[in-house]
Amino acid sequence: MTTTATALPAALGGTPAFPDGLPLTVVRIPRREEVLGRIDAILADGRLTNGRTVAALEEEAAGLLDVPHVVAVSNCTSGLMLVLQALEVTGPVVMPGFTFSATAHAAVWAGSSPVFAECSADSLTLDPDHAAHTLRNVGGTAVMATHVYGTPCRVERLQQAADRSGVPLVYDAAHALGSRRAGVPVGGFGAAEVFSMSPTKVAPAGEGGLIATRNEALARTLRTARDYGNPGDYDCLFAGLNARMSELHAAVGLASLSGLTERVAHRGELAAVFAEEVKGLPGLRFPVVDEGDTSTFKDLTLVIDREEFGLDVPSLATALGAEGIDTRRYFHPPVHRQKAYRALGQADRLPLTDALSAAVLTVPLWSHMTAGTMRRTAAAVARIQDHADEVRAALLGGAHGPHQDVRPAVE
Ligand SMILES: *Cc1c(COP(=O)(O)O)cnc(C)c1O
Repeated sequence: MTTTATALPAALGGTPAFPDGLPLTVVRIPRREEVLGRIDAILADGRLTNGRTVAALEEEAAGLLDVPHVVAVSNCTSGLMLVLQALEVTGPVVMPGFTFSATAHAAVWAGSSPVFAECSADSLTLDPDHAAHTLRNVGGTAVMATHVYGTPCRVERLQQAADRSGVPLVYDAAHALGSRRAGVPVGGFGAAEVFSMSPTKVAPAGEGGLIATRNEALARTLRTARDYGNPGDYDCLFAGLNARMSELHAAVGLASLSGLTERVAHRGELAAVFAEEVKGLPGLRFPVVDEGDTSTFKDLTLVIDREEFGLDVPSLATALGAEGIDTRRYFHPPVHRQKAYRALGQADRLPLTDALSAAVLTVPLWSHMTAGTMRRTAAAVARIQDHADEVRAALLGGAHGPHQDVRPAVE
C-alpha cells in the first residue's frame, strides 16, 4: 500500500492518508485466554452476580489506585448517582458545562440539579476560581468536577473551594483510570471518584463503573446502595438502585486492568508523537496537562484558533474526513446548551466554555495504535493547514466540495 503523502490534502484531490478509513477509537479487546479462565470459574461456581470476580476486580483496582475502598457498579453514571445520594446532596451541584452529558444527568437522577461553571482556558477542566465564585454567588451543595480527556483537575484548588463552602467534592473520573496528579493516582481525591469501564474508555469491562473512596462509611453505604438499599435482611434502608456489576463484566474488567499502566504510557507517547509532528503549526494547541501529571489521553483533542489556523472546526473535520480520518467534537454542544438543560436558563452563562467548545476537535487515538499511524494523522492535519485557504475555498462550494466522493487517485 502506498500511503506516502502527496503535497495536496485529500479535500483538494490529493491521496487520502487513510483510504480504508481511520476510526476514532478501536476498543482493545482482551485476549480470550485472559478472560476465559475466569468465565469458566464463574460458570462452575454458578454465581453470575455478587461473587468473587467483582471482589477481585475491586481489590485489584484499589491497589492500582492506591485507595482503601473501591465499589464496582454497573456503570459510571449510576456510580455518580449513588455517590450524590449517599452524600445526601439534593441541592444544586456546581459542575463544568464542558463535560459529557452524563455528569449532569447523574445529578438530576439523584434529585439534584446542575449549576454550570466555566472550565480553565488552558486545561479545559473545571476552573477552581469560577467554581468558588459560583458556589459563593449562585450557591451549591456539592462540586462535581470532570478529569476531561484524562487530564487531572487542579484538585488542590478545587478542594480549597469546596472546603471553604463546606460542601463535598466528587469527581467524574470516567476518563481518568490511570491518570496521575503529581504522581498520585487519580482515585483518592475528593469524597469519591467514579470511573467508567464502558467500551470507549481506557479499560473496558463491556459496561461498568468503579467508585473509589477513602471514606469507609461511604463505601459501606454504596455497597448497600448498589443493591437496592438492602443491607442484607430485605429491610431496605433507603431507595437504592440495582447498580451491581455482573461477574462476567468483572472478568473482562480484570483483564482490561492488567497492563493498564503500560497502555496509558503508550497513549501518552502517541500524544507526544502527534504534538511533535504539528509543532509550530499556527492556531493549534492542546489542553494543558500540568507538569508532572499523567493523562490517560482517553481523547486526543485539538484546540483550534480558527483565525490563526485558517479553518474552523467543522471545515477541518470535513477535510480530515476526506483523508479517511474520523473525528468528534468532544464536547460540543456543551452540556449547559443542550436541549435537556435549556429550562435551567443557564445557556448564556459560560462564554469561555462556549468559545472552547466551538474550538475543540478530537482525533483518533487508541491503546494499540502505532506511532506511524499517529504520525500520518498529524501529517494530514499539517497538510490541511498548509493549504488552509484553498481548502476553505473548496469547501465553500468549489470543485472539491465536502459532499464530493473523494477517492484516492493512486492506490
Ligand atoms: C462516558 C462518560 C460517563 C458515563 O460513563 P458510563 O459508564 O457510560 O455511565 C460519565 N462522564 C463522562 C465524562 C464520560 O465520558
